[in-house]
Amino acid sequence: MNQRMYALGSKRSVIREIFEFGKKRAAEVGADKVFDFSLGNPSVKPPQAVEDILKELLSTDDPTALHGYTSAQGDPNVRKAIAAYIAKTQGVNTDPDFIYMTCGAAASLTITLSALLDAGDEVITFAPFFTEYKVFTETAGGKLVALASDPDTFQIDFDLLEKAFTDKTAAVLVNSPNNPSGVVYSEDTIGKLAAVLERKSRELGRTIYLVTDEPYRELVYGGVKVPYLTKYYKNTVVCYSYSKSLSLPGERIGYIFVNPDAENARELYLAVCGAGRALGYVCAPSLFQKMAEKCQGITSDVSVYEKNRDLLAGALKEYGYTCVRPDGAFYLFVRALEPDAGAFCERAKKYGLLLVPGDDFGCKGYVRIAYCVSTEMIERSLPYFRQLAEEYGKN
Ligand code: PLP
Repeated sequence: MNQRMYALGSKRSVIREIFEFGKKRAAEVGADKVFDFSLGNPSVKPPQAVEDILKELLSTDDPTALHGYTSAQGDPNVRKAIAAYIAKTQGVNTDPDFIYMTCGAAASLTITLSALLDAGDEVITFAPFFTEYKVFTETAGGKLVALASDPDTFQIDFDLLEKAFTDKTAAVLVNSPNNPSGVVYSEDTIGKLAAVLERKSRELGRTIYLVTDEPYRELVYGGVKVPYLTKYYKNTVVCYSYSKSLSLPGERIGYIFVNPDAENARELYLAVCGAGRALGYVCAPSLFQKMAEKCQGITSDVSVYEKNRDLLAGALKEYGYTCVRPDGAFYLFVRALEPDAGAFCERAKKYGLLLVPGDDFGCKGYVRIAYCVSTEMIERSLPYFRQLAEEYGKN
């Protein structure tokens, strides 16, 4: 068998490991004594519109067409609706033939990276980053080059970025709002990034594409806006997903949007189609494509995430923990109270607190807390976070 695939399949991710431990522990000591902050599974239900649209589709559509194959890029009417929404929100002149429907952001990324990379090409990203980026990049034949971010803000460290480009650099991959830090890139960061990419593309004599992973675009709080990267850098490919915005991660639906103004946009879009074909996706789930057609601009009620963020971030600060300002997604990336985040997570487990060490996100000394859980569970967990901090001499 293929040894790389065997290695990937035989070792569970740290997050899955902790999640499984949580289930076992809950059976032993009772579910009320376990505070599982490990998984990024949305805790709010999908908007009512999703249920209504699905019911309507199931009752009125011809079932053969509804559940049949769509064209590989996706149903033309669905892509038309998405293109119209993108044109309205991003102000770009697009058409359905720059949209490719996918099975969520993971598929959007694997397809985009396969479309962009030749063997040995490099993809620059910024720590902390979603753990699967390395797997996706390497599967596409590339190498992930992860750079540390500014430790005070988790915005891009431009001194490090300047030095990271080589003649193998094919793309820069960003994720804002970020998993695991919750940080949203400022307009200043994006403007500077665009300028560096323009200049480096010129100097290196190749177009360096910007790939933006946006499953958390709509999950922002306190009026924060997530800038559209196509407005700053034309060579942008957007990897979008409805997993979090509509609370549908198990349904596997998203899309890729190639900016029509990008260099070689048409060829890149065709390479996306080719990569989807080569990876065996055939087409994205038909029923959920048709749901997406009617759900443009609709989002789950994310107010509970904001409430959870305020409650948890406020309490943790009071107990002596520190974290960079989390404006979006549903994660806090908190500094562990000892240098070894793994050891800190083991201590937290004694209190039933299941946290994820930051090492796999490319950032040692931090833990991720996914607060897409019930507010009531957060309230019950707070005394234990306090006791854990006291064990380290805080308060
Ligand atoms: N990218 C990031 C940053 C994520 O956090 C996730 C899932 O948690 C994904 C991609 C994959 O999302 P999807 O479920 O849409 O494939």
